[in-house]
Amino acid sequence: MSEFVTNPHGRLLVPTYHAIAPHGTGRLLVAGEGEWGNRCEAGHRFARPRATPEDPVDICTCGKYLSEELAILPEDATLLEDPNEAFDRNWWHVSHSAALALDPDQPVHLGSREAADDRANLKNYARENHGKSFDLHLYKIRLKGSARIHPDVLVERPGQSSDHTHALSLLSDWDVVRYVNGTEAPGSISLVVNARAVENMDLEIRDYLRREV
Ligand SMILES: [Zn+2]
Repeated sequence: MSEFVTNPHGRLLVPTYHAIAPHGTGRLLVAGEGEWGNRCEAGHRFARPRATPEDPVDICTCGKYLSEELAILPEDATLLEDPNEAFDRNWWHVSHSAALALDPDQPVHLGSREAADDRANLKNYARENHGKSFDLHLYKIRLKGSARIHPDVLVERPGQSSDHTHALSLLSDWDVVRYVNGTEAPGSISLVVNARAVENMDLEIRDYLRREV
């Protein structure tokens, strides 16, 4: 695999405060095996999977903030190059509801299994440290073959809270928008999907937080 990948069918876009702009170089570095796609300004990279929830989300253990540059995970580089690969994958959604019913007019966020684990891991940490009490349940989802996937891909900014308004604005005429995660499972590709484009959804693990992740 080449060291960098591009989006041959559309643009790479970066959220700004008020709009979305073209990605600076138009290409993404492919992260090394066993590493997330983010790094700190001193160049430190972080091991996958996240070993403890205290691992860096916005500040490295060396004290530096995260770099703006985000690499893509090796297994998602092909999904950047070929949007149709999304149809061949199982997708995952973490919900507070054990009886989730999707509203066909509402978007739903889907990610890789590892991204679901990372999200649960971070939420579990928040629960334990901030006295929050909730359950999480893991759903496995497939996309309809008729889903229209936007050719452009959003690249999140590491260390900044996710702002999904940009993905939602792209979704208006499409069913699926791909984005590269900057915080949860950084470097992995997740999807914002019109719920009507979901083929089927199965509750895979109830009370997900009680599992080792
Ligand atoms: Zn560092």
